[in-house]
Formats: sequence, structure tokens, C-alpha cells
Amino acid sequence: MRYFRCELHTHTTSSDGKMTPEELVDRAVECGYDAIALTDHNTVAGVERAVKAGERRGLTVLKGIEWTTFWGHFTVIGGGSDVLWRDITPDNVDAMIARAQSKGDIVTIAHPRRMGYPLCSGCHCDYDIEKLTGADNYEIWSHYYPNEGVAARQQKEQWYSLLERGLKITAVYGYDWHNRDDLPPSYAYTYVGTESNRAQDIIEGLKRGATYVTIGVKVDCKAISDGKEYCIGSTLESGKSAVFTLRCDRIEDYRSDKPERLTRVEFHTAEGVTCLPIEFGKKVQTEITPAKFCVVEIYGIRNRQEQLLAVTGAFYTGGNR
Ligand SMILES: [Zn+2]
Ligand SMILES: [Zn+2]
Repeated sequence: MRYFRCELHTHTTSSDGKMTPEELVDRAVECGYDAIALTDHNTVAGVERAVKAGERRGLTVLKGIEWTTFWGHFTVIGGGSDVLWRDITPDNVDAMIARAQSKGDIVTIAHPRRMGYPLCSGCHCDYDIEKLTGADNYEIWSHYYPNEGVAARQQKEQWYSLLERGLKITAVYGYDWHNRDDLPPSYAYTYVGTESNRAQDIIEGLKRGATYVTIGVKVDCKAISDGKEYCIGSTLESGKSAVFTLRCDRIEDYRSDKPERLTRVEFHTAEGVTCLPIEFGKKVQTEITPAKFCVVEIYGIRNRQEQLLAVTGAFYTGGNR
């Protein structure tokens, strides 16, 4: 297994993006992605062109759509879904998510706490989160400056509250890529751990929860329990201690301002936080017995400020569903 650089939330001129499907694919290749998903608002009109362009350029393009409804947005990836966005209501949203999943698609809660700009309906998720517990993924980070501000903090907190309730829900970033971004603003990557960058393998990796979101930091994180090795997204045996090992390196081709150095790592469980110092290229180890989950947050200095730079998906325990 290795980690592939993905962008799972993009737009083209088929909706309100500035790039044609071919231009998006060219740009994604220039930016070093292994796979992207095209998720135009309520249309798949650009998907076949993007997939074909991807085949020519050696880039995996996952088929997708963004359900853009009055009460919230969802990206739906896989290409099997027959759900019409205008049929989705607060009363049936859970059934619509399940219907898309029954066709092999995966559903992501998109930018749930972000306000639209200019202020518009639907970016902020106003569906009852109780009805969204079947969703596969949750955008804990979104768009530009993803690790800063109120929306980022609220999204991370809401994701933690879902984990605390024993749910398995994968953490992802959504660039919500609309423009060429020649002078890239602060943005992040989602890395997906899987066998290859073929579309089906990326989807499997997302379903397993083997992800991390990052600004310029490559993350290698494992847990060893009872002599067995677990990767991000794996399920550990409840009540058994595990040794977590973490090593972080620089992503050399990250295009925006790069982190200067790392400062600390936090291992978050439902029971509390274990905080340790960390440097690029040096291993950190700690023994934890998580009751429900363990998530790793990595902090460092960037633009002369201490910032959250990477968050891993959860390691779960046997109690999760
Ligand atoms: Zn959206
Ligand atoms: Zn979008």
C-alpha cells in the first residue's frame, strides 16, 4: 500500500469552474496529482471529457457530481448514482445517500460549516447531522486557507463528535477547485492509502478510511498492537494498547508557502490528548490504548505562525460501526 495524492472536489466550465475538463486535467497533471474526481454542480456533463483527457495524460479521473441543494452540498463519487439533486430533501437525505451507496458510489459531506461567497445558500450544511451518519467521508478541511478560521475549527470538532459516537467516517479535504490558481493560495492535499491509483482502488482506500489531509507535510503513521501492524483507517482491538509510530517529511513540490519546521504532534482519543515534540525526518513513538479512535494532528511553523498542518484519518477500535 502507498499513499496517492488526490483531489476529490473539482469544478469545470460544465458548471461554474473556469477551466474546461481538459484544462483541469492538464493542470492536475502539472500539480502532481495521482487522481482527481470531477464533481460539477448537479451535472455530469464534463465527466466523459475529463475521463478521456485523463486517459491521454495518465491521470485517474473519478466520475462524480456535487449534489448542490438548498440545505447543503455533497460530493458523490463513482459514477453509478441515479439520484437527482432536486429530489433530495431534509426528510429523505439519509435514504438518498444510501441509494447512491447501493450503486457503488461514495458520498462526502462537503464544506459543512463554510459560508458561501458571495453569501449564497447551500454551502453551509443545514441538514440534521443525525441524518448524515451514513455518509462515507467528511470534508474536515475545505477550499483556500483550509486549516484556519471558524469553519475549519467547527468542521474538525463536528467530525470528532461523530467519531466519539462510534461512527466510521473518513476525513478528507475538498479544494473545491474552480480556478487555475497560477499563484496558489494556501490549500491542502488529501492522500489516500491504497494499492494503486486506479479509480476503484482510490474508492476502496476512501472506504477503508486510509487518508490524511495536509499542507506540505508527508505523513507516515502506523500502529502496532499484539505484533500486528495497522494503518490509518484500520480497526484495532478494543481495550488493547498500541504503539503509534509517526514520521513526517516535507512535500517538496507543495506549491504554496511551505512549512518551515514542525513543532508538535497531538494524538487525539476520546479520552484525551497526548502531545509530543516532532521534527521533520525523525520518528516519534507513543503507546496509547484508545477506547474508540485515535487521530493524529501535526503542528508546525508556517508563515512565522504555528499552524495545524496535517490531520490523519482515524484509527478505529472494535466498537465502531
Ligand atoms: Zn459546494
Ligand atoms: Zn464544489
